[in-house]
Amino acid sequence: MFEQEITAFLRRHHYRGVAPAAALVDMDGTLYDSMPLHASAWQRMVSEIGIPCTREEFFLYEGRTGASTINLLFRRAYDRDASPDEIEELYRRKTIYFNEYPKPPRMEGALELMTTLREAGIRRVLVTGSGQHSLIDRLGADFPGIFAPDMMITARDVTHGKPHPEPFIKAMQRAGVSPSASIAIENAPLGVESADRAGAFTVAVTTGPIPRNEFVKAGAAVIFDSMPEAAEAMPRLLFELLTTTNPDLITP
Ligand code: CA
Repeated sequence: MFEQEITAFLRRHHYRGVAPAAALVDMDGTLYDSMPLHASAWQRMVSEIGIPCTREEFFLYEGRTGASTINLLFRRAYDRDASPDEIEELYRRKTIYFNEYPKPPRMEGALELMTTLREAGIRRVLVTGSGQHSLIDRLGADFPGIFAPDMMITARDVTHGKPHPEPFIKAMQRAGVSPSASIAIENAPLGVESADRAGAFTVAVTTGPIPRNEFVKAGAAVIFDSMPEAAEAMPRLLFELLTTTNPDLITP
């Protein structure tokens, strides 16, 4: 079922195989249906400071840290980076707007997927560019028993956010696994790029408006159209990962 995709991944990364021991899991748009609210909060804040923008563009920046998104907009509008004070103030304002909206719901199928991974004995690490406590603090209640408190890499833990590989490399180190023992679960092309560059077998779930081809270009190993679809396929995918080897690296 996934043999072609797995083989293509193994060849591209020169791995003999993938033995999944840890799942590195994105939060916004993957565990929570929060991206539409983030996009609205960004658009409101950025429009208020007089930088022209569209709501849609914020889906493309998904995965970046707040500072990185603000700098991108400042470079476009003013040809300079924002100052640390500007970044702090603008991200604070965006966070206030986000928190004014109703709490985003858990993504349908997300708890099922995480439960499947736990029952398969796979360690779970959260990998998020977010520094917003409102959602991070809810994880324990919304995903009981899924993420240990020390198994989280947030915006505070990294120097370089996605699409740099650092967040996923840090997550691998936190879980004590090698890249070829890691699968990543992501809903954004920049997140997929980050995870693939770190060497993880990256499962993309297209929960937002971004076309499938963007995930292919970013290096997604497999792509699902929804979290319920990913949850249903995961046992089969884990089995095929364990049993598929790189045909180029077979030793006699
Ligand atoms: Ca995301």
